[in-house]
Amino acid sequence: MLSNPYQDILNAQKKFFVNNRKNDTLYQRKQKLKTLKKWIKTNADYIVTELRKDFNKCEEEVLISEIRPVITEIRDAIHNLNFWAEPTKKATPLALLGTSAKTIFEAKGNTLIIAPWNFPFNLAIGPLVSALAAGCTVVIKPSENTPYCEKVIQRLVKEVFIPEEVHCILGGVTETTQLLQLKWDHIFFTGSPTVGKIVMKAAAEHLTSVTLELGGENPVVIDKKCNLKDTAQKLIWGKFMNSGQSCISPNVLFVHKEILKDLKKALSKEYNKIFKSGQKEKSNPEFAHIVNANHFERVKNLIDTTTEQGGKIFLGGETEGSCNYIAPTFIESVSVKSAIYNEEIFGPVLPIITYTSITDVIDKINAKDKPLALYVFTTSKYFYNKIIKETSAGTTVINDTTIQFTHPNLPFGGVNNSGIGKAHGEYGYREFSNERAILIQRRGLTMPKFIYPPYTSLKKKLIRFLTWRM
Ligand code: NAD
Repeated sequence: MLSNPYQDILNAQKKFFVNNRKNDTLYQRKQKLKTLKKWIKTNADYIVTELRKDFNKCEEEVLISEIRPVITEIRDAIHNLNFWAEPTKKATPLALLGTSAKTIFEAKGNTLIIAPWNFPFNLAIGPLVSALAAGCTVVIKPSENTPYCEKVIQRLVKEVFIPEEVHCILGGVTETTQLLQLKWDHIFFTGSPTVGKIVMKAAAEHLTSVTLELGGENPVVIDKKCNLKDTAQKLIWGKFMNSGQSCISPNVLFVHKEILKDLKKALSKEYNKIFKSGQKEKSNPEFAHIVNANHFERVKNLIDTTTEQGGKIFLGGETEGSCNYIAPTFIESVSVKSAIYNEEIFGPVLPIITYTSITDVIDKINAKDKPLALYVFTTSKYFYNKIIKETSAGTTVINDTTIQFTHPNLPFGGVNNSGIGKAHGEYGYREFSNERAILIQRRGLTMPKFIYPPYTSLKKKLIRFLTWRM
């Protein structure tokens, strides 16, 4: 059998971890995070320039969605690490009188981070922050679909860390498959549910723990009682940021039949304001393109089949293959049987389905896999509480979309098909940590000694007392 080309890298990281943990302190981890933050700040313009080359992502979106969230993660970790890492004392039960107990967080060890292409910097470096805060070593495998960002991450890793601590490996399926064969202490994967299953199967070979940040078909429910202008503005921003190539991007709009006409009016008005009416959108420097020709064809086919099946485009619809451009598009009269309703769109297209009964919408949501994000626009507390109570989702936002990702104190992640485990802040720190139970027993006479065999009649009575008093 051929040896694994990455085994030596992992061996070096294993050795480093074992030696390093003897002297590892929270202060040292924070110093590393500060160095990382400094590099990102110093190289912000370089990051912006390179990400533009990958899929026409504009400077403002790179700052808002790639750099700022990572800087926030680092700041949060530096400020709160002592608090997160604090041991927790546990109360002592009667049967263990005389002992003391606590839990401590220890680094899981040698970890692997596999990143996707849609927020290629943020989703590789964000988890790295959590791993460093927890005291782990890391191998990062960025996405091969954003080759300029891959190089940015490779350079960052080389300039900030020693390879025994953090190593970057470039490549696609072949390289990731080889990495997955190794025995990691934790794998943090962000990507599609299909590849998530491959990662989980590989991890199961070694019983390695996983965090899976997966995709979702995120529904938006619009109540007839809502502020239409506000709803339209927030939907357009949340849906078309990064050209809809976001795991928490709205995937379908459920709109109450009575307000469809008015919502369409509000959407048209805001659409023309936000995308500057009259400007040729494909040359709009503020609008990202589709990442590559394969994804362009996939999203274009979704639009074509939806319209062939009776869907009507009422905003957008233009496409340009030479630069992988798809205009921000809304399609109405969409059937629940259509492909666009039954897969993650991951592009700037939003289908609309009307409803008359909220129970019907809840049934539709529950008939599919649990989404990563569920959005509700309403002025009624009863309406959104009913939806929260009768559905399940990784994250839920009332009267907005996508902003939950930026909240440092909320866990970010899915449920089942949309993900396993949580990211960000303290939740990310815990994913890379083992919560270890420590029990300290006194010497000499201890409570358990009273029930050691042989079982005299007094001991039998005591055991019965201890059993039945519970
Ligand atoms: P992907 O699953 O195709 O790829 C993710 C990573 O896995 C890449 O690094 C890739 O090289 C690797 N990979 C691909 N195929 C592989 C295989 N057969 N074996 C081993 N490794 C393989 O995902 P993508 O296209 O890069 O990203 C889009 C998906 O990611 C969407 O489903 C989106 O919803 C999801 N996503 C989720 C989150 C989240 O936080 N939950 C964030 C961003 C993206």
